[in-house]
Amino acid sequence: MDKEKLLQSIQLYLFDMDGTLYLGNRLYDFTTELLETIKSTGRRYLFMTNNSSKSVEDYIKKLAGLGIAATREDFITSSQATAWYLKENYPNHRLYVCGTQSLKDELQREGFTVTENLADVDCIVMGFDTELTFKKLEDVSRLLLTRPGIPYIATNPDYVCPTEFGSVPDCGSVCDMIFNATQKRPVVIGKPSPLMPQLAMAQHGYTKEETAVVGDRIYTDIKSGLNAGITGILVMSGETTPEILEQSTDKPHLVLQNASEIISTLK
Ligand SMILES: [Mg+2]
Repeated sequence: MDKEKLLQSIQLYLFDMDGTLYLGNRLYDFTTELLETIKSTGRRYLFMTNNSSKSVEDYIKKLAGLGIAATREDFITSSQATAWYLKENYPNHRLYVCGTQSLKDELQREGFTVTENLADVDCIVMGFDTELTFKKLEDVSRLLLTRPGIPYIATNPDYVCPTEFGSVPDCGSVCDMIFNATQKRPVVIGKPSPLMPQLAMAQHGYTKEETAVVGDRIYTDIKSGLNAGITGILVMSGETTPEILEQSTDKPHLVLQNASEIISTLK
């Protein structure tokens, strides 16, 4: 399918945020028009993020600061996808959450009991824990080593999270610390797993053929799209260089200099 036909056939656009719609705290100059065009042509977009340390409310504030109005329904986060996965696979399990209060609140809002009493725990959830303590590392190690087969889930596989001064350790790095102690690896929910695109389609009623992920990273954004069987659109406005693209074995369906190319096609 040619580029124009492909972009026009997409009804649900799943946008990665940093590197795709803005860079750090600088909104790309096309982003407002892009989002308006998608809406005004009867299509839908969602913001899709692996970051499980921030709540949706935090992201609504961040986007408002950049001049983009958003509501809860405009997001698909790894925390939401984790809750969905837990409901499908481990309903009524009591959770030990090595994550922020935001993540605990989100899981409790979805009806789960969150407990720090290890005897009551049926399932472990790791998030991007900006409130991490050694006690939590010890608790998770103890649970994994003394309770063989206990379900062990992580919200996202990222090793680092970008900040204004460089990077800080993210969920994947903490899971590696736990692996060194226990030899256990979690089931991972966020990109590149297909669960966020799958949840987005299920919640909003779109087919695989109508859905695309748009992002600047091949190994997370594009891979989650390919794993979900939807269209993967790579934008070169973030971290992927032409060399990285050439060397990658995961090939996007479409490569754009940036997401502004979608605007003229839909108009
Ligand atoms: Mg990105």
